[in-house]
Amino acid sequence: MGKDKTINGKELRPESLMMSYAYDPMLSEGSIKCPIFQTSTFVFKNAEEGKHFFEIAYGLKEKEPEEVMGLIYSRLNNPDMEVLEDRLCLWDNAEQAAVFDSGMAAISSTLLAFLRPGDTILHSEPIYGGSYYFIKHILPAFGVNVISFRPQHSEREVETIIEHAKAEKSLKMIYIETPTNPTNDLLDIRMCAKIAKKNSTLDKKCLVAVDNTFLGPVFQHPLKHGADLILYSATKFIGGHSDLIAGVALGSNELIKAVKGMRTFLGSGSSPLNSWLMMRSLETLKLRMDKMAENASHIATWLENHPKVEKVHYLGNLKEGTEQRRIFDEQCDSAGSMISFDIKGGEKEAFKFLNSLKLIKLAVSLGGTESLAEHPATMTHSDIAIEEQHLMGISDKMVRLSIGVENFNDIILDIDQALSIV
Ligand code: PLP
Repeated sequence: MGKDKTINGKELRPESLMMSYAYDPMLSEGSIKCPIFQTSTFVFKNAEEGKHFFEIAYGLKEKEPEEVMGLIYSRLNNPDMEVLEDRLCLWDNAEQAAVFDSGMAAISSTLLAFLRPGDTILHSEPIYGGSYYFIKHILPAFGVNVISFRPQHSEREVETIIEHAKAEKSLKMIYIETPTNPTNDLLDIRMCAKIAKKNSTLDKKCLVAVDNTFLGPVFQHPLKHGADLILYSATKFIGGHSDLIAGVALGSNELIKAVKGMRTFLGSGSSPLNSWLMMRSLETLKLRMDKMAENASHIATWLENHPKVEKVHYLGNLKEGTEQRRIFDEQCDSAGSMISFDIKGGEKEAFKFLNSLKLIKLAVSLGGTESLAEHPATMTHSDIAIEEQHLMGISDKMVRLSIGVENFNDIILDIDQALSIV
């Protein structure tokens, strides 16, 4: 069906288009699946065509309205990357996507595409340890100023942080992760968009970038709430089977063109095989995410009532009337499948629990078909100083669970036996 998304004028939903959108079998011997174009380079019809493709690629010439970018070299583009990018746009209603060989490649390439010496980035905390390290330790070496805020801060308090840092004129990006990893706190995307607008001028737009890894692309759509850029570790739900490392950036044609420019020169694009694997995974994305979220709701309720559990951090149990619940109702379509909980005791009890699990695997990462458990304070977030971890709500009693597609009764059976050993 090429790029037609409609039947009788009615738009089809992304899950119905993941098997066929943006791919013409007749260009590949009738193959129902897009083949893996395992090639480094592409043959030009003639020298004139090669010259034209390069002029477009390097921005020396504008494409004709209906013209598609010609294939040159797989670091720049490849049919697997392109079909995948077209399909990824459907979930978030984005104009353009760029795929990368890791979530960190998507994040670092995007930040490097827009930040320059003297610019300021305001980020929420906590954020994934790797993103935190890149923003806190690598960007300052390139002359970028870094300031931060927490989910508990009001709009006025965030503005005060910007004023104290005298960053009104230099603020170039607000970078948030919502829900936060691993505490499951929500950030208000609309509030960030409002603050970004206030700190934009005619010649400097302040961009809002959202790491949507925990709920997206099915359950949260940041562009709809005023974000400019969406970032993913596609290693998680998009890949979904814990067998690949990948990332995505989405946004307007103008912004993603700049991101793709940086991707070409950093060489951080997704390989043909990884792109193909993600296309395979997108076919079951909604099925998997729905099932995992349903499982998580049973498990979170069960954990809430366990005497050895002090607190459950889960989006499905936010109290009515709270600010967090308001943001949830406005921004999220589901509570998703990430649960963190504080075990009574500390590291000793958390480790005893983790070492006693049988079905759930003790591993970092998330969003795969199998359930995983880890200890953020000493694993994914161990780069963050302990005092800062405490300010962010991460403690040595916290265990993070990524709930998979197993039968939820079996997951509960495993958690129950492991807790009984603590
Ligand atoms: N963003 C979030 C929320 C993550 O959890 C991770 C990895 O765990 C990343 C980004 C980085 O992604 P990757 O490991 O694919 O580079």
